[in-house]
Amino acid sequence: SNNNNPISVSKVRVIVRVRPFLPHEITPRNGGDPVSCISLLDQDFQSRDEVAVYLKDPHTSRNECYQLDSFFDQEDNNVGQIFHTEVNPMIPAIFNGCNATVFAYGATGSGKTYTMQGTEEQPGLMPLAMSTILSICQNTGSTTHISYYEVYMDRCYDLLEVKANEISVLDDKDGQIHLRGLSQVPVHTMSEFQEIFSSGVQRRKTAHTGLNDVSSRSHGVLVISVVSTPLDGSGSPVCGKLNLIDLAGNEDNRRSCNEGIRLQESAKINQSLFALSNVIYALNNSKPRIPYRESKLTRILQDSLGGASRALMVACLNPGEYQESVHTVSLAARSRHI
Ligand code: ADP
Ligand code: MG
Repeated sequence: SNNNNPISVSKVRVIVRVRPFLPHEITPRNGGDPVSCISLLDQDFQSRDEVAVYLKDPHTSRNECYQLDSFFDQEDNNVGQIFHTEVNPMIPAIFNGCNATVFAYGATGSGKTYTMQGTEEQPGLMPLAMSTILSICQNTGSTTHISYYEVYMDRCYDLLEVKANEISVLDDKDGQIHLRGLSQVPVHTMSEFQEIFSSGVQRRKTAHTGLNDVSSRSHGVLVISVVSTPLDGSGSPVCGKLNLIDLAGNEDNRRSCNEGIRLQESAKINQSLFALSNVIYALNNSKPRIPYRESKLTRILQDSLGGASRALMVACLNPGEYQESVHTVSLAARSRHI
C-alpha cells in the first residue's frame, strides 16, 4: 500500500493494465492460446517501487523494456484492485481541497473505456470513485457534484447539456482555470449518478453528427467535485476535485494511413497527448517551467496536475499488439522520472 512508500518516485504515477485476449482473438490459427506480447521482466526481482515491463514481438525477435510504477496483467476483474491500491489513496486529499487526475491512455481497443467506465458487472474507476466519494460525503456532511465534457479537436463540449454546447476556457489573473458555462449537477446516490452519467455517455456517442464514433477520438473528462468542511475541523468549506479522463486513442499515423478529417483529428490528438506527456515529464523531473499552454487539455488541467495535486496514468495495452503497445508504453515511460 501507499503507506509503506511515503516518498513516491514520480509525482505522476504511471501504471500498465494489459487487457485479456477477447473471445474472437482466441482462434484456431493461434492454437486457441494466443501469446501475450507483454510481460514483467524477471518477475522475482521487481523492486517495490518500480516494475520492468518487457515487450516482445512473437513474429520477429524485436523486444523492448521500460520501467514503470506498477503492472496489472490480463484480467477482466482486477479494476477493484487497481482502484484500491492506486486511486483510493488519492481521495482523502480531495476532501481537504486538493485536486487529482486519473488518465486512461492507450490505443483504441486497448481497454481505456473498460477501465474508466467499466460495465454493470465490472464497474470501472469512474463509478468506483463516485461511490467512495458519495459514502465519505454521507459520513461527513460534504456535498458532491459532477461535470462531464469532451475535448474534441481542441474544443470543449458539455456532455450534461441537452445540446452538447461548446464551452470556453478562461484563465483569470491568479491562474485559476474556468470552464465558462459548464454544467455542474449535484449527485446524492449512485443511481442518480448512473442516470446522469449514462445520458452524457450517450451524448458523447452522438454529439458530432456525420462522424461515427467520435468517442475514441476525443478526450472524455468526468469531474467529481466536492465541497467539504476540512477533516481537521478547521472552519470554512473547501473545494476539491477528481478528474477522471478517458483519453483519445493514441493511434500511430504511420500505421493507420489517415486522410482528411481523420488526419486533422489525429494530428490534434497526437499533439495533445504529446503535450500531456511533456507536462508530466516536466513535473516528474522538477523542471522550472511546466508547458501547460501547449494544448487545450493541459491548459484545462493546469490546476489539477502539479503543485499539491496527485495524478495517475493507466497505460492500457492489447496483449496481441506489439508495435502499438511499444508506442503506448514508450510515451508513458517517457513521462516518468528518469
Ligand atoms: P478503448 O476504450 O481503449 O478503445 P475498450 O475499453 O472499448 O477499449 O475495450 C475494447 C474491448 O475489450 C471491449 O470489448 C472491452 O469490453 C474489452 N475489454 C477491455 N478491457 C478488458 C478487460 N480488462 N477484461 C475484459 N474485457 C476487456
Ligand atoms: Mg473507448
